[in-house]
Amino acid sequence: MSNVDELELEKFSQLAHKWWDKNSEFKPLHDLNPLRLDYIDHYADLAGKRVLDVGCGGGILAESIAQRGAEVQGIDLAKKSLKVAQLHSLESGVAVNYRCISVEDLAAEAPASFDVVSCMEMLEHVPDPESVVRSCATLVKPGGWVFFSTLNRNAKAYLLAVIGAEYLLNMLPRGTHEYQRFIKPSELSRMTRHSGLALVNLTGLSYQPLTQQYSLGSDTDVNYLLATQRQN
Ligand code: SAH
Repeated sequence: MSNVDELELEKFSQLAHKWWDKNSEFKPLHDLNPLRLDYIDHYADLAGKRVLDVGCGGGILAESIAQRGAEVQGIDLAKKSLKVAQLHSLESGVAVNYRCISVEDLAAEAPASFDVVSCMEMLEHVPDPESVVRSCATLVKPGGWVFFSTLNRNAKAYLLAVIGAEYLLNMLPRGTHEYQRFIKPSELSRMTRHSGLALVNLTGLSYQPLTQQYSLGSDTDVNYLLATQRQN
Protein backbone atom coordinates (compact mmCIF):
# COMPACT_ATOMS: atom_id res chain seq x y z
CA MET A 1 0.00 0.00 0.00
CA SER A 2 1.40 3.36 -0.90
CA ASN A 3 0.95 6.53 1.06
CA VAL A 4 0.16 8.79 -1.88
CA ASP A 5 -2.79 10.84 -3.04
CA GLU A 6 -2.46 10.94 -6.83
CA LEU A 7 -4.76 13.97 -7.07
CA GLU A 8 -2.45 15.90 -4.76
CA LEU A 9 0.58 14.97 -6.87
CA GLU A 10 -1.29 16.00 -10.00
CA LYS A 11 -1.96 19.47 -8.55
CA PHE A 12 1.76 20.00 -8.12
CA SER A 13 2.68 18.46 -11.48
CA GLN A 14 0.40 20.91 -13.27
CA LEU A 15 2.18 23.84 -11.67
CA ALA A 16 5.67 22.32 -11.94
CA HIS A 17 6.93 24.76 -14.58
CA LYS A 18 6.33 27.61 -12.14
CA TRP A 19 8.38 26.35 -9.17
CA TRP A 20 11.09 28.99 -9.59
CA ASP A 21 8.81 31.84 -10.62
CA LYS A 22 8.79 34.02 -7.53
CA ASN A 23 5.55 35.68 -8.55
CA SER A 24 3.67 32.45 -9.15
CA GLU A 25 1.54 30.27 -6.90
CA PHE A 26 4.80 29.31 -5.23
CA LYS A 27 5.49 32.87 -4.07
CA PRO A 28 4.63 32.01 -0.44
CA LEU A 29 7.26 29.24 -0.38
CA HIS A 30 9.89 31.59 -1.81
CA ASP A 31 8.99 34.31 0.67
CA LEU A 32 9.11 32.10 3.74
CA ASN A 33 12.16 30.11 2.66
CA PRO A 34 14.85 32.29 4.29
CA LEU A 35 13.03 32.02 7.63
CA ARG A 36 12.78 28.25 7.67
CA LEU A 37 16.32 27.89 6.32
CA ASP A 38 17.71 29.98 9.19
CA TYR A 39 15.54 28.04 11.64
CA ILE A 40 16.95 24.71 10.44
CA ASP A 41 20.51 26.00 10.31
CA HIS A 42 20.21 27.43 13.83
CA TYR A 43 19.53 23.98 15.30
CA ALA A 44 21.33 21.65 12.91
CA ASP A 45 24.36 23.70 11.82
CA LEU A 46 24.04 22.67 8.18
CA ALA A 47 27.59 23.08 6.82
CA GLY A 48 29.08 19.68 6.04
CA LYS A 49 25.93 17.74 7.00
CA ARG A 50 24.12 15.05 5.00
CA VAL A 51 20.59 16.33 4.53
CA LEU A 52 17.42 14.77 3.13
CA ASP A 53 14.56 17.01 1.98
CA VAL A 54 11.30 15.06 1.80
CA GLY A 55 8.65 16.34 -0.63
CA CYS A 56 11.22 18.70 -2.12
CA GLY A 57 9.11 19.86 -5.07
CA GLY A 58 11.13 22.12 -7.35
CA GLY A 59 13.96 22.34 -4.83
CA ILE A 60 13.43 25.77 -3.26
CA LEU A 61 14.48 24.61 0.21
CA ALA A 62 16.85 21.86 -0.98
CA GLU A 63 19.03 24.26 -3.01
CA SER A 64 19.15 26.79 -0.22
CA ILE A 65 20.29 24.10 2.23
CA ALA A 66 22.99 23.03 -0.22
CA GLN A 67 24.13 26.66 -0.40
CA ARG A 68 24.81 26.50 3.32
CA GLY A 69 27.42 23.83 2.61
CA ALA A 70 25.39 20.65 3.12
CA GLU A 71 25.26 17.60 0.88
CA VAL A 72 21.58 17.39 -0.05
CA GLN A 73 19.30 14.72 -1.41
CA GLY A 74 15.77 15.76 -2.42
CA ILE A 75 12.93 13.28 -2.87
CA ASP A 76 9.40 13.71 -4.19
CA LEU A 77 6.92 11.61 -6.14
CA ALA A 78 5.95 14.26 -8.70
CA LYS A 79 8.26 13.53 -11.63
CA LYS A 80 7.68 16.86 -13.36
CA SER A 81 8.69 18.77 -10.25
CA LEU A 82 11.86 16.70 -9.96
CA LYS A 83 12.74 17.45 -13.61
CA VAL A 84 12.35 21.17 -12.93
CA ALA A 85 14.44 20.81 -9.77
CA GLN A 86 17.20 19.00 -11.68
CA LEU A 87 17.27 21.57 -14.48
CA HIS A 88 17.37 24.42 -11.99
CA SER A 89 20.24 22.82 -10.13
CA LEU A 90 22.19 22.56 -13.40
CA GLU A 91 21.51 26.22 -14.19
CA SER A 92 22.29 27.54 -10.73
CA GLY A 93 25.30 25.29 -10.21
CA VAL A 94 24.01 24.34 -6.75
CA ALA A 95 24.36 20.57 -6.55
CA VAL A 96 21.43 18.57 -5.16
CA ASN A 97 20.84 14.89 -5.75
CA TYR A 98 17.17 14.41 -6.71
CA ARG A 99 15.33 11.11 -6.68
CA CYS A 100 11.79 9.94 -7.32
CA ILE A 101 11.16 7.60 -4.39
CA SER A 102 8.72 7.53 -1.49
CA VAL A 103 10.05 8.35 1.95
CA GLU A 104 8.84 4.94 3.14
CA ASP A 105 10.87 3.11 0.45
CA LEU A 106 13.96 5.20 1.12
CA ALA A 107 13.62 4.44 4.85
CA ALA A 108 13.67 0.72 4.08
CA GLU A 109 16.68 1.17 1.81
CA ALA A 110 18.86 3.57 3.79
CA PRO A 111 17.97 3.78 7.50
CA ALA A 112 19.98 6.09 9.77
CA SER A 113 21.90 7.66 6.94
CA PHE A 114 21.18 11.40 7.24
CA ASP A 115 22.28 13.97 9.81
CA VAL A 116 19.26 16.13 9.07
CA VAL A 117 15.84 15.49 7.52
CA SER A 118 13.44 18.25 6.52
CA CYS A 119 9.84 17.74 5.51
CA MET A 120 8.13 21.07 4.85
CA GLU A 121 4.55 21.76 3.79
CA MET A 122 4.15 18.15 2.71
CA LEU A 123 2.40 16.26 5.54
CA GLU A 124 -0.91 18.00 4.79
CA HIS A 125 -0.92 16.46 1.31
CA VAL A 126 -0.56 12.77 2.23
CA PRO A 127 -3.15 10.21 3.39
CA ASP A 128 -1.04 8.91 6.29
CA PRO A 129 1.21 11.64 7.72
CA GLU A 130 2.29 9.45 10.63
CA SER A 131 3.89 7.02 8.20
CA VAL A 132 5.95 9.91 6.78
CA VAL A 133 6.98 11.03 10.26
CA ARG A 134 8.01 7.45 11.15
CA SER A 135 10.04 7.13 7.95
CA CYS A 136 11.81 10.45 8.57
CA ALA A 137 12.70 9.19 12.05
CA THR A 138 14.11 6.00 10.54
CA LEU A 139 16.17 7.90 7.98
CA VAL A 140 17.91 10.22 10.41
CA LYS A 141 20.89 9.07 12.45
CA PRO A 142 20.50 8.78 16.23
CA GLY A 143 20.94 12.28 17.64
CA GLY A 144 20.16 13.82 14.23
CA TRP A 145 17.58 16.51 13.52
CA VAL A 146 14.18 16.22 11.84
CA PHE A 147 12.19 19.34 10.93
CA PHE A 148 8.54 19.53 9.92
CA SER A 149 6.23 22.32 8.91
CA THR A 150 2.55 22.08 8.19
CA LEU A 151 -0.80 23.82 8.59
CA ASN A 152 -2.72 23.84 11.86
CA ARG A 153 -6.37 22.73 11.90
CA ASN A 154 -8.78 25.27 13.41
CA ALA A 155 -11.22 27.94 12.26
CA LYS A 156 -8.51 30.60 11.88
CA ALA A 157 -6.30 28.32 9.76
CA TYR A 158 -9.29 27.49 7.59
CA LEU A 159 -10.11 31.16 7.14
CA LEU A 160 -6.55 32.29 6.42
CA ALA A 161 -4.99 29.33 4.62
CA VAL A 162 -7.99 28.26 2.59
CA ILE A 163 -10.50 31.10 2.29
CA GLY A 164 -7.95 33.94 2.55
CA ALA A 165 -5.04 32.57 0.52
CA GLU A 166 -7.04 30.64 -2.07
CA TYR A 167 -10.22 32.67 -2.44
CA LEU A 168 -9.64 36.25 -1.33
CA LEU A 169 -5.98 36.99 -2.04
CA ASN A 170 -5.67 34.44 -4.85
CA MET A 171 -2.20 33.60 -3.55
CA LEU A 172 -2.80 29.91 -4.15
CA PRO A 173 -4.94 28.02 -6.65
CA ARG A 174 -8.32 27.01 -5.28
CA GLY A 175 -8.23 23.44 -4.04
CA THR A 176 -4.54 23.57 -3.06
CA HIS A 177 -5.36 22.53 0.49
CA GLU A 178 -7.75 20.01 2.01
CA TYR A 179 -8.76 21.30 5.41
CA GLN A 180 -9.34 17.82 6.89
CA ARG A 181 -5.66 17.06 6.29
CA PHE A 182 -4.38 19.95 8.38
CA ILE A 183 -2.60 18.78 11.54
CA LYS A 184 -2.68 20.28 15.01
CA PRO A 185 0.68 20.78 16.73
CA SER A 186 -0.50 18.41 19.49
CA GLU A 187 -1.19 15.72 16.88
CA LEU A 188 2.13 16.19 15.10
CA SER A 189 4.06 16.15 18.35
CA ARG A 190 2.29 12.92 19.32
CA MET A 191 3.36 11.41 15.98
CA THR A 192 6.96 12.50 16.46
CA ARG A 193 7.04 11.18 20.03
CA HIS A 194 5.67 7.81 18.88
CA SER A 195 8.44 7.71 16.29
CA GLY A 196 11.25 8.27 18.80
CA LEU A 197 11.73 11.95 17.98
CA ALA A 198 12.01 14.34 20.91
CA LEU A 199 10.32 17.70 20.48
CA VAL A 200 12.87 20.47 20.87
CA ASN A 201 10.98 23.49 19.58
CA LEU A 202 7.63 24.56 18.16
CA THR A 203 7.53 27.92 16.39
CA GLY A 204 4.75 29.68 14.53
CA LEU A 205 5.11 30.97 11.00
CA SER A 206 2.69 33.76 10.29
CA TYR A 207 1.85 36.01 7.39
CA GLN A 208 0.97 39.70 7.62
CA PRO A 209 -1.23 40.52 4.64
CA LEU A 210 -0.62 44.26 4.98
CA THR A 211 3.17 44.13 4.82
CA GLN A 212 3.02 40.88 2.81
CA GLN A 213 5.74 39.45 5.00
CA TYR A 214 6.24 36.27 6.96
CA SER A 215 7.66 36.09 10.44
CA LEU A 216 8.53 33.46 13.03
CA GLY A 217 7.00 33.77 16.47
CA SER A 218 4.64 32.36 19.03
CA ASP A 219 1.56 32.41 16.77
CA THR A 220 1.18 28.76 15.72
CA ASP A 221 -2.47 29.17 14.74
CA VAL A 222 -2.00 28.77 10.99
CA ASN A 223 1.44 27.53 9.95
CA TYR A 224 4.14 26.18 12.23
CA LEU A 225 7.59 24.60 12.35
CA LEU A 226 8.72 21.75 14.55
CA ALA A 227 12.32 20.94 15.45
CA THR A 228 12.83 17.39 16.71
CA GLN A 229 15.80 15.21 17.51
CA ARG A 230 16.09 11.46 17.22
CA GLN A 231 16.57 9.67 20.50
CA ASN A 232 19.09 6.86 20.45
N1 SAH B 1 8.74 20.99 0.54
C1 SAH B 1 8.66 21.92 -0.56
C2 SAH B 1 7.40 21.72 -1.41
C3 SAH B 1 6.09 21.78 -0.67
S1 SAH B 1 4.70 21.51 -1.72
C4 SAH B 1 8.70 23.31 -0.01
O1 SAH B 1 8.24 23.53 1.12
O2 SAH B 1 9.17 24.22 -0.69
C5 SAH B 1 4.29 19.82 -1.31
C6 SAH B 1 5.19 18.82 -2.03
O3 SAH B 1 4.87 17.52 -1.53
C7 SAH B 1 4.98 18.74 -3.54
O4 SAH B 1 6.22 18.82 -4.18
C8 SAH B 1 4.35 17.38 -3.76
O5 SAH B 1 4.68 16.79 -5.00
C9 SAH B 1 4.91 16.61 -2.60
N2 SAH B 1 4.16 15.41 -2.24
C10 SAH B 1 2.83 15.28 -2.07
N3 SAH B 1 2.54 14.02 -1.73
C11 SAH B 1 3.71 13.35 -1.67
C12 SAH B 1 4.09 12.02 -1.33
N4 SAH B 1 3.18 11.11 -1.00
N5 SAH B 1 5.40 11.68 -1.37
C13 SAH B 1 6.33 12.61 -1.69
N6 SAH B 1 6.05 13.88 -2.00
C14 SAH B 1 4.75 14.25 -1.99
